[in-house]
Amino acid sequence: MPSLNKDQIKQQDTIPWLANPIKAAKATMKKYGLWNLNQQMGSRWPIACVALEITQRCNLDCTLCYLSEHSQSIQDLPLEEVLRRIENIYHYYGKNTDVQVTGGEPTLREPSELTAIIAKISSLGMRATLMTNGIRASRTQLERLCKAGLTDVAFHVDITQQRRGYSTELELNSIRTAYLERVKGLPVSVMFNTTLHKDNFHEVTELVRFFCDHAEQLRTVSFQLQADTGRGTLTTRTDEITLESTLDRINQGCRAAINFDAVQAGHPNCNRYGLALIVNKKVHNFYDDNRLFGEVLRASKAVNWRRNKPGKSICRFVFWLLQHPSLAIRLATWGAKRLWQLRNDLTASRGKVTTLSFFTHNFMDACQLDQERIACCVFNTMTRDGPISMCLHNAKRDSFIHQAITTEEGKFWSPVSGRLTDAGQIIEVIPIDQLPSRFLKGRSRQGH
Ligand code: SF4
Repeated sequence: MPSLNKDQIKQQDTIPWLANPIKAAKATMKKYGLWNLNQQMGSRWPIACVALEITQRCNLDCTLCYLSEHSQSIQDLPLEEVLRRIENIYHYYGKNTDVQVTGGEPTLREPSELTAIIAKISSLGMRATLMTNGIRASRTQLERLCKAGLTDVAFHVDITQQRRGYSTELELNSIRTAYLERVKGLPVSVMFNTTLHKDNFHEVTELVRFFCDHAEQLRTVSFQLQADTGRGTLTTRTDEITLESTLDRINQGCRAAINFDAVQAGHPNCNRYGLALIVNKKVHNFYDDNRLFGEVLRASKAVNWRRNKPGKSICRFVFWLLQHPSLAIRLATWGAKRLWQLRNDLTASRGKVTTLSFFTHNFMDACQLDQERIACCVFNTMTRDGPISMCLHNAKRDSFIHQAITTEEGKFWSPVSGRLTDAGQIIEVIPIDQLPSRFLKGRSRQGH
């Protein structure tokens, strides 16, 4: 599995705009009429994050799982191939890229391998997020990963996981609280992921309140809307669940009108982002001036924000502001006005202020991919041959996870058998009905 240098990757031609990804992302946004002062794709970054799937196996069987019915039978990629893909991400997008270490469940890999993966991402100046259901992510392991350079941990907890003894999202808050306790004091930024569907959509408001009440320990809350992709047994989303109705419920939970337009990430039908300011347990909208924040975010794109090191990041930002006096004056004026508005709550909370990011993500059904959204995709998955839209990857997962990997010796590693062969790149796909029952999950297990 030889590493590729930048020139070799260019020759691969999987992304023709590799030479200047930010410029190309901007051109794409313009082409689709999505370029404006508040658009981050093509101004601050070419991509929001890249998913690195280090295993296809999982220890759960979610009713809305994006993995395929073959996933559980696929062998874990060899470590050297995973490290090669990390180098590839770096060559495509450079430093400060957010890399989601995911699967399947990434903690099913050997702990030493997981540590090596996080260390490699960190050594290249990129930010590593561990995407986990938390079941095997012990405090000891998380401490070790933090030492290796982990910057974020994203816990997926919701009722699609069918955890025994929990039938509502609010009941699952005890698990969320335990996870927050587990990471307490670690230098890592914490996120919770929740998939929304007909059986939990009515709980979003209460769930948002729970997250706001724990904002001191949390940085980001992400809601994914149900999509018909993968092996999950739930399929079609009900009409009541839309990006707009989700934002309404977030606002109801916050008891405030959060602005989801000041920071735009790619296509508005895919993603919405808002930032809450929490003072004295009351939630306020943070970005209340689209023009000012559009200009500030665009101009400060070189400032290296580390979500797990807010103090350091704020110092870097203040230093940057000192070199941009006109924006500094406008921000100071805005800040003075906000301080005055919030003076009572600030006094009551003794100046203690937290922020909480809300992110909503609208994955597409596998059979209804929209070419425009794929072109504007801000979430990619790294494959053997380069990054592609996560929705496209989920829709065609089986063709990617069955790809043979070429070794440095010119042999082929089979993801089905886990063995090396001289036989070539064609991997035989085992029909679902011939897979041993231990590999069956989702729809195939249900039909078994
Ligand atoms: S195309 Fe899919 S993966 Fe990409 S940003 Fe849109 S919803 Fe997300």
